[in-house]
Parts: sequence; C-alpha cells; structure tokens
Amino acid sequence: MLSGCKTISGNTGRQVDREPNQQQDISGIPTAELHRHLEAGLSPETIAILGQKNRITQIKSSKGEILPVDPQDPDSIRTYYKNLIPGLTTPDGFMKFLASFAVPLSVIKSLEDLSEATRRQVLEQAAKGCLHLELRGSPYTYQSSIKDNPPYEEIIGAIRSGMGKAYDETEASASYIACFSRQKAGQFGKEVVDTVVKTNTADSPIGIDIAGVEPGFPPSKFKDILAPAIEAKVPMTIHAGEQSPPPNFKETPASFIREAIDLGAKRIGHGTSLISDMELMEYCRQNGIHIEACPESNQALGYMPIASHPLGKFLRYGLSASVSTDDPLMFNDNSVRELLKNNMEALKITPDDVAQMTRHAINAAFVSEKRREELTRKFNSLCPRK
Ligand SMILES: [Zn+2]
Repeated sequence: MLSGCKTISGNTGRQVDREPNQQQDISGIPTAELHRHLEAGLSPETIAILGQKNRITQIKSSKGEILPVDPQDPDSIRTYYKNLIPGLTTPDGFMKFLASFAVPLSVIKSLEDLSEATRRQVLEQAAKGCLHLELRGSPYTYQSSIKDNPPYEEIIGAIRSGMGKAYDETEASASYIACFSRQKAGQFGKEVVDTVVKTNTADSPIGIDIAGVEPGFPPSKFKDILAPAIEAKVPMTIHAGEQSPPPNFKETPASFIREAIDLGAKRIGHGTSLISDMELMEYCRQNGIHIEACPESNQALGYMPIASHPLGKFLRYGLSASVSTDDPLMFNDNSVRELLKNNMEALKITPDDVAQMTRHAINAAFVSEKRREELTRKFNSLCPRK
C-alpha cells in the first residue's frame, strides 16, 4: 500500500522551519524506477524460494568455481553479497561481482520461474512505494539458464506474464527493456533487436538498451544492429557516459551520450559525464532527454562517491532525471526509497526533488499513453502540486 505524500508537500513553504529529520522524511512520496537489472533486483527471499523449488544446493560461476553461498537460505545470500561490497573496487572484486550474477540466474530454471521472479519483484517494489518499475535484462542470459533454451519471444512472454499478474493483483505497474551487451553485440544483438521489433506494441511497449563496458565501444558502433529498432521507433535507452570498471576507471566521454541521443535514445543510463559538456546538457534540457542516475552503483563500483554525483546539479539545471538502484542485490539498498532515504544529504536533494523525480520518471517511462495517464493520476492524488 502506498501512503500519500500530502503530509510532506501539503504544508508548503514551511520546510525551513522543520526539524532536519522531518525535512528529509520521504516515506510518503511514491517513487518510480527506470533502471534496474531484472536478475540483479531479485530479493534474497525470491532467490531462496526458487532455489528450494528447484533443489539447487550449489552455485558455480561461469569459470566453474563454487560460490560461498547457500541458494536456499536468504540470510546466506544476504551475507554473501554483503561480503562482496567492500572489495568491489579491486580487479579481483570486480570479477567476483560479475561472477555473483550466477546466484540469481542459477535458480531460474523455467519460463514459469522467470515469470514468478518478475511478478514477485514488481509486487515487492510496489509495496515499497514504487508506482512504476522498469526491469531490464538480456534475453540470451535467461535463455541459457532455462531448460531447453526457449526462444526470445517466449522469454519476453514470461516476463510480460509476470508483470501482468502483478498488475492484476495490485495494479503494480512495470515494463521490460531488452538489453544486449556491447561486448556480445555481434553474437546476440541482431536477434535481440529483431525480437523487440516484433513484440513491441503501443499498448505494451518493450524497450531496447545497450549495456556492457563502454571504452572502445561508442554507441555509434551499433547503428547498423539497432537500425530496425530505430526504424520501428522502439523506445530506446542506452548505458552511456558511465566509466569503465576497476582497475582502470577510464572516463567515458560525454560524446558517447551525444552519440546515444543521435541514435534515438530518449533516456541515458548513468550519464554522469554529461556534467562535463554544458552544451549537451542544454540540449538534453530542451529536448527532455531523461537521465537514469544510479549513484549507489557508481559509488559501489568505485567510479565516484555519492557526494560527488552530479544528480543534484542536473535537477537544479532543470534536467529530467530520476534515481535507480541498477543492481540492488549487489549494492545494498533494495528499493529507490531506501537508497534515497540513506543518501538524501550526500546527494544534496530535498523531498520536493524526490517527488519531482517521480514526475520525471513517469513522463519518461516506456509505457502506453493510457498507463502514463493512470500513473500521473495516481501520483497527483498522492502528491498534489503545490
Ligand atoms: Zn545498468
């Protein structure tokens, strides 16, 4: 159940008089999350339920090493990820981070499991105040963990069915974005794009995204692969302007963001280097390009402390932006509300900014216009404009 944010924004103009902890109270403000990787957003409870159902007792990384985790025990899963965080910024830690994706993936053994993992995640986030959730992932990753390797269309069908069930149960809203990795584009990109073009509809949009390590892989490199999606006007977001993983931490320039926009992306994943190009920032402001900021992810992987994240500057400048968790299973906070609650001061944002970001996210969401109106109506009833 969502609680309204009237208690926060209803008392307008008096925030300066409040106690600091009251000023930062965002517990009644609904959120919307646009950048969350499906498998990396499963809760330890969901992993354990599927682990028990499929009698998984051991998880091996792609290199065959046994990971120190009991996939049937939520506490063991939580402890395993907690232990990974401090070492994430080392080269060895980053490899362990990548290997840790095997935990959620190894318990998804059927299309039903994928649907249930999706349904549970959407409902869990709605219960934590999320009005609309967008989950992304690579169909080929799920295909390889599911028995008999079903085609991408069936993978997308299972995710949609989980989202549909969540909506039927509590009107929890969600959409799916199909990704392919920059490094695996040659192998999988074309089939992902073709499937999205086939399955995306105005009533039930499916987005497209490019993920993976950026340096050496500017978005323009994928113009040919993306051509059918661009032609069909599939809603597009691209991971761009983040940084490369440890130990190099190589900056990816704002030109990558420009190239992503030139390809037709209306949203940018991370986009932290946008702060270095004022001209492009102005272009984004005028054209409503939305920034999916993931400050906790950027800090956990050692790119920048949360206090240095440009989100506050983006909002003051008038950009459309919102906060997402990216890979919450690995990075601590399971929901946007928890992430914000723990980092309001470091991010230099106010409860009004939180409400504003939800408005931005609803406007930028990959949903039907009917769903957007419904979300806007819900949000306005909970947080009337001052
Ligand atoms: Zn991401």
